[in-house]
Amino acid sequence: MAFDPIERSFYVENVVMSGNKRKYYRFRHSLHYGGIVTADAVGCNLLCAYCWNYGRNLHPERFGEFHTPQEVARRLTDISRKVGYDLFRVSGAEPILGERSAQHLVEVMRLVGGPFILETNGLMFGYKPDLVDLFASLNVSVRVSVKGWDEESFEKVTGAKGEFFEYQLRALEALHKRRIRFWVAVMDEVFKGKGLERLRKRLPVPCRIEREPMEKYPFVVENMKKRGLLKQGDS
Ligand code: SF4
Repeated sequence: MAFDPIERSFYVENVVMSGNKRKYYRFRHSLHYGGIVTADAVGCNLLCAYCWNYGRNLHPERFGEFHTPQEVARRLTDISRKVGYDLFRVSGAEPILGERSAQHLVEVMRLVGGPFILETNGLMFGYKPDLVDLFASLNVSVRVSVKGWDEESFEKVTGAKGEFFEYQLRALEALHKRRIRFWVAVMDEVFKGKGLERLRKRLPVPCRIEREPMEKYPFVVENMKKRGLLKQGDS
């Protein structure tokens, strides 16, 4: 049964935030974006079939440890000095679950100072556009991972009620209105065929679309099959 992702945001934010601390389980560097320093968090308001961090996001209470923005920024800048990358992000989870998690991230970004890529599904930006204002003066580019091209495909991919697809589109409008740099990312495996064309017709503002290849971990393939996004026999 599909769930309400706004209710889930509030629930998950309570699990993964304690005061101004958020739960993270790993700090690393990766080759994405040509080299980026990454803090991996837990907790999301969606449960996408292709999520590579599905288990941790299904049960965020079981994983990670709480860190203040100061601790997160120190871990990120230490790695940056060692590996020479000066681009930063939070990955593995939804960073914006409500006001507290948004403020935590703003503080991390201010302390790190360097350019930050904010990877988000945009749901809470669409629900509460005031949250976008918090990021307006920061050195940030926002990558909005759009989950479907209509209500039905959104529900199939995320497990959340289709009517909330609208919030992803509202997030794009809110970012555009505030002149914050952003683009849309879609999962190629899901959008191939007519999906991309259909999404273009629904986009409320002009934006670049990145096509992301799917990591075919066995549990991802299983989840995709269960949701009817891959046929039995596909691998
Ligand atoms: S929005 Fe991202 S982090 Fe959340 S479940 Fe989907 S893929 Fe995972």
